[in-house]
Amino acid sequence: MSKLKKILVADPSEKILNSITSAPDAKLYEFAVATTGSECIEKINSFKPDLVVIDLLLPDKHGIEILRIIKTDPNLQKTGVIISSDQRIAQNYHIAMQQGADYFLLKPFDFTALFQAFAKFFSHNLSADPFSKIFTHLSASFHSKQVPVKPEHKKTRIKFWGTRGSHPVSGPDYIRYGGNTCCLEIQHGEDLIIIDAGSGIRPLGVKLAKQGVKRIHLFISHTHLDHVTGFPFFEPIYHPEAEVNIWGPIGFENSLQEILSTMLTPSFFPITLQEINAKLSFHELRDTHFVEIGAMQVYTHHTYHPGATLGFKIVVDGKQIVYITDNELLLGFMGNPWEIEDQDPILEPHRSLIEFIKNADLLIHEAQYFNEEYPAKVAWGHSSVANATVLVKECNIDHWIVTHHDPNHTDKDIDRKLQTHFDCLDNYGLTCRLLMAHDEMEIYI
Ligand SMILES: [Zn+2]
Ligand SMILES: [Zn+2]
Repeated sequence: MSKLKKILVADPSEKILNSITSAPDAKLYEFAVATTGSECIEKINSFKPDLVVIDLLLPDKHGIEILRIIKTDPNLQKTGVIISSDQRIAQNYHIAMQQGADYFLLKPFDFTALFQAFAKFFSHNLSADPFSKIFTHLSASFHSKQVPVKPEHKKTRIKFWGTRGSHPVSGPDYIRYGGNTCCLEIQHGEDLIIIDAGSGIRPLGVKLAKQGVKRIHLFISHTHLDHVTGFPFFEPIYHPEAEVNIWGPIGFENSLQEILSTMLTPSFFPITLQEINAKLSFHELRDTHFVEIGAMQVYTHHTYHPGATLGFKIVVDGKQIVYITDNELLLGFMGNPWEIEDQDPILEPHRSLIEFIKNADLLIHEAQYFNEEYPAKVAWGHSSVANATVLVKECNIDHWIVTHHDPNHTDKDIDRKLQTHFDCLDNYGLTCRLLMAHDEMEIYI
């Protein structure tokens, strides 16, 4: 009798792993399973699978990172890789294919298709399907009601220096909410962290340089332009005595340092990264990483967005502040979110992130699109107001600040959007405190 082919399945859901390994055709193969990225790597070495099925958002290591490890190791040349994902995001599909994945399987799993893919792979007959999007479109309608906001207790200071997504805007229609792209300052005593280097980091840099702040920790959620465009204009990087620690996710193609280095080449900017005076040091972050900056602990989690994108949870003085600017909830869902039950399978791709956020004292999270705009923006990596409200409900949040405003939304639009938020909260019976972030908004928690 010939030896069974070995398949390693790495997925954060025990339910999915059980369904695969107990399927009728499972007896045709020898299976091993892993629920985290590091366990997957360990079993690639110990179990020596012929084929690995990797979920894109495994805890602690991104699926693309594992794919690259396999495809660049000469000893694993014959190991096949099927990438599985709930994310119907074109960029992730294409990058998986570029990095050598043998197949890309969208979730929720069609188990017949999965076992067919196994059979095809072992008969050297597996080729990837073209990327396709299948969504159901329903519409939702809302009414308005305002919820009062309580004054804050002063302790940790949070200041929004940029609250716009995609690209900066200016002009008379953007006076009240402002036009700078993402940048957040969090200060507790002497400890300071900055998240994202959108155009809002420029005025923050002017302030820090004036104050003579020498030690800076800058966290980058991802390298889309709205989160890095202000970096070359951040004044402290030109001060020789400044020490700037830059933390960012391990990218799909290039490291954060390489990406910023490309951004600071003569075609784009007159000063190169190497010519910058401050002492820069780069640190790579993964999902579930943890960094301590003085009294502040910074935790990370991948979000549902094109490319390797991180959300942050800052734990300080017994309080939890979560900051997630780019995250698409309930991909393509256009129905009434208040009809979604807690155990609804539609929440499955978001379970881990929900656990990460749960019971935070403050959630700063986007809701970039009006519900009626969302059908045209599905899989762009951003949430509708209605779908983002599901996260607030599932995570038991009672203080939500909305940021990463769409550049097409004027002050009047954002005011109208605020009403939509209240409508959605009202439909859930939630009494969450809600604020729309604006540039230079400062709160204490
Ligand atoms: Zn963004
Ligand atoms: Zn983005």
